[in-house]
Amino acid sequence: MKPKAIFFDLDNTLLDHRRAAREALSIIHEKYGLGVRGVERDDFVEGYFRVNGEMWFGLAAGETTVERLRVERFDRLFKELGIPGAAVGEVVGPDYLQVYVERVYPFDGAEETLAALAGVFPLGLATNGFADTQREKLAETGWEKYFDWVVIAGEVGVFKPDPAFFRLLVEKVGAEPGGVIFVGDSPAEDIVPARGAGLTTVWLRTPGAWDPGAHYAISEIGDILDVPPVARWMGE
Ligand SMILES: [Mg+2]
Repeated sequence: MKPKAIFFDLDNTLLDHRRAAREALSIIHEKYGLGVRGVERDDFVEGYFRVNGEMWFGLAAGETTVERLRVERFDRLFKELGIPGAAVGEVVGPDYLQVYVERVYPFDGAEETLAALAGVFPLGLATNGFADTQREKLAETGWEKYFDWVVIAGEVGVFKPDPAFFRLLVEKVGAEPGGVIFVGDSPAEDIVPARGAGLTTVWLRTPGAWDPGAHYAISEIGDILDVPPVARWMGE
């Protein structure tokens, strides 16, 4: 049976989010003189990825709100790194996002892959993240034209890995869950919950990540064209 839709995660699946975030965090590290205050840049960057990741899981579990996350991830990070300061997050949070959103780096082959699939399957974007930030990044790519659905967690108010996020995609398509393919990089936020919700999963391997047991695994985004349920219909 021909898949009814293919949904793509955005960050670290179509766009090199880690590169953009790392660059933005380096600028923040420099701007706020954190090196002088004894914080190594790599510790700052890795600390951010850890704290931010934990807080997104907390958001999906209803423990915080989008507005608080934007601010509190830096409050928590600065506190953990032993840098004093009141209301740090209210200054650094927006500052970081402004620098980050200017850095949109599509992976090699991402656009070509979307272009090749777009005439064959209905496509969707399904991303966690803030509504404004994700919209701005998408606009910068010019990829809206490829997508029949753009689902941003910050807009719908349901966040990965909440299975409700994936059920929402299936509802939008109006298909059986197995007829919807989900392509993502994150074992815990994409593959496990998508598979749990009955979708057909394609895992974009991430170095160092545990294998979540997706239906299919690929090493580069362009390899989606070779995954059997996709490949069968290409060139038809
Ligand atoms: Mg991702």
